[in-house]
Amino acid sequence: MSAENNTINSDQVSVCPGCDLLLDKIKPTPDHTAVCPRCLCRLHREHPNSVQRTMALAATGMLLYLPANFYPLLTFNVLGIDASSSLFTSTLSMFDQGQHFVGLIVILTGFVFPLLTLSLLFWVSAGLLMGWKARWMPDFLRWHHHLTEWAMTDVYLIGVFITIIKMSHMAEIQFDVGFFCFIGLVMTTVAAQASIDKALFWQQMKGDREDPREEKIFPVPTSVLTGREAGLVLCHTCHKTMPVSELARENNPECPRCGESMHQRKHNSIGRSWALVITAAILTLPANLLPIMEVEYFGQPEASTIMDGIIYFFQEGSYGIGAIILTASILVPLFKISGMTLILLSIRFHWTSWLRHKAFMFRFIEFVGRWSMLDIFVIALLCALVQFGYLSTINVAQAAFYFTGVVLSTMFSAISFDRRLLWDTATTRTPCKDLPNGTTCTS
Ligand SMILES: [Zn+2]
Ligand SMILES: [Zn+2]
Repeated sequence: MSAENNTINSDQVSVCPGCDLLLDKIKPTPDHTAVCPRCLCRLHREHPNSVQRTMALAATGMLLYLPANFYPLLTFNVLGIDASSSLFTSTLSMFDQGQHFVGLIVILTGFVFPLLTLSLLFWVSAGLLMGWKARWMPDFLRWHHHLTEWAMTDVYLIGVFITIIKMSHMAEIQFDVGFFCFIGLVMTTVAAQASIDKALFWQQMKGDREDPREEKIFPVPTSVLTGREAGLVLCHTCHKTMPVSELARENNPECPRCGESMHQRKHNSIGRSWALVITAAILTLPANLLPIMEVEYFGQPEASTIMDGIIYFFQEGSYGIGAIILTASILVPLFKISGMTLILLSIRFHWTSWLRHKAFMFRFIEFVGRWSMLDIFVIALLCALVQFGYLSTINVAQAAFYFTGVVLSTMFSAISFDRRLLWDTATTRTPCKDLPNGTTCTS
């Protein structure tokens, strides 16, 4: 940035997606991560051979996808009676029992989205490797960005392990081909996600949507601290910065690189987040008070709530599994609801202390959001696998519907929230001399 003539080149600066701090565009050295000095949000980490590795891992994941989902996963044997199930049939078990909403969410998060994210990643990285400049490539990468947290094979895998431990006292368990393929699928999916160098992918995607005549040099006021003050808008998806004056020319401005709609802050973010947090808080009551599962032994049905399931594990001496389910099903949803409430109240009443801690808490809420689906996956597997007629069957009960509602509304509440609003409440400006290294200051 040039302080003398008071102009800025939007290609040479970047804006922190976490707090809107204006930063010089930096390229971290290999094995180093660029971190925002104000909110400590991770900005960029270089991944060597990112495109090749991502393509190879996504291709391997796609090869493992069919056997992992359609071959038998586990076989349970109780008194000589065998029951086996593939992952796909377990995702359908909720439909068989009339829980269509829960079934739909399980099939989307456990089956459809994992395949979609892998395929999108494969085609984008293959396109980059081949040097294609196709119009669909930024769209594919944008869809991948939005779908990643909804593809939950890793959560499903932990659900499979919990099911095995839960049933190990009652049945003889045989591991089938699908089980080993599924472990491979989860490992390659996690590795593929970790190998993407998002900044590099988007940089190479640069092309047909961008107008080379675009005005990139524009005046800025002195002593600017944030992107908003500098008149810059950041794309939420690909992190491209644009002068707000460029966007003002259009009615519904879109990012020239990825096609996402662009705005300085997410529209009606606070109102939507509040509505979803309150919905989650209301749904928590029936989710915890009503039975979530019904176990039948010799024709005698016994309903159990989430808490009953946790107590069962502690009484059986499986403290680790009890603690995992207690954390995923009770503590995480409560933490998400109370954390989001605290953040929203902070903005409402301009509580400007502990901003970094609140920003960290929000990132944690985003990270743990999907792990609450764990109990639903365990129940889906148990419903599919424990079908021994008169001897024993497990059926899903009505709390599953409300619990899925809690998970979805807390996840959407975090997605709707624009984290930069937290920092907008910090109206006091930091003098330039006090700003940490790496921050941009023009005065
Ligand atoms: Zn920041
Ligand atoms: Zn974009």
